[in-house]
Amino acid sequence: MGADEVIEMQSVPTPTRPHSPRVLILGGTSEASQLATQLAARDDLTVISSFAGRVSQPTLPAGLVRVGGFGGVTGLISYLVEEKIGVVIDATHPFASRISGNAESACKTLSVPLIALERPSWEPTEHDCWRAVPDVKFAASLVNHQRNRVFLSIGRQELGAFSKCEDAWFLVRAIDAPGETLPANSKLILERGPFHFNDELQLLRSESISVIVSKNSGGTATYSKIEAARALRIPVIMIDRPRKHNVPTVPQPDDVLQKLAQLL
Ligand code: NAP
Repeated sequence: MGADEVIEMQSVPTPTRPHSPRVLILGGTSEASQLATQLAARDDLTVISSFAGRVSQPTLPAGLVRVGGFGGVTGLISYLVEEKIGVVIDATHPFASRISGNAESACKTLSVPLIALERPSWEPTEHDCWRAVPDVKFAASLVNHQRNRVFLSIGRQELGAFSKCEDAWFLVRAIDAPGETLPANSKLILERGPFHFNDELQLLRSESISVIVSKNSGGTATYSKIEAARALRIPVIMIDRPRKHNVPTVPQPDDVLQKLAQLL
């Protein structure tokens, strides 16, 4: 779906409440859905969740939903004005840095309060064997050896960085089929989390995985692959987060609700 294809949807009938504050949640994460569910149940505000439209069949949260890019900072400014948004909650994924930058700029321009949620990073334990890398290109350069059987679990958007890896074998997992060219030696599985420890253990064993490439996404939905890697002593190439926010952030959805209460 492109930036110009905006679909307005309403997942659960929630009346727009005239004169009540309108809250925009920038979503695409489980925390965003959780917040939408909690806020949609309130009758003192109207909540709208926004998705980029990357996933073909998104699980829609409660409340009003819109899908598609806004058209950069200018588009977002227009949307906030037209929709009379009183507060923006940025609950996007830790690797979605562009939309967070746009949200900061647009909110600053309009003096609309912004609450930025950033879930904590995963930290290695003494039993983990991680190599932290700054980006996907670096990860690709490290794993491309003939003896490697790589579990590539980074979503589908940045798989292109591995397309020229012709030596290693890759097990690629994504929610939807990637548009990017996959590495020459690869197997694709299409699955949506959350994933469970025993299933991850089984997958790593049955595919004889020797190394995992993961983003440091944080959260619980995809953490079991890290726990399974720990149990099997499989090394993890862990891609560091991009710098995403210039404003103070809060780590948990409850903190967002507290901040919102202070603002409304
Ligand atoms: P990004 O690089 O920060 O954003 C690229 C563009 O996508 C933005 O400039 C914006 O387009 C549009 N966009 C992003 N999030 C949006 C939202 N919630 N509502 C409306 N438009 C949005 O983000 P990304 O890495 O492509 O991720 C896209 C979405 O997937 C995010 O919402 C994120 O929460 C979710 N997600 C990302 C990852 C990941 O690893 N990157 C993982 C899981 C979920 P315009 O400039 O046209 O407004």
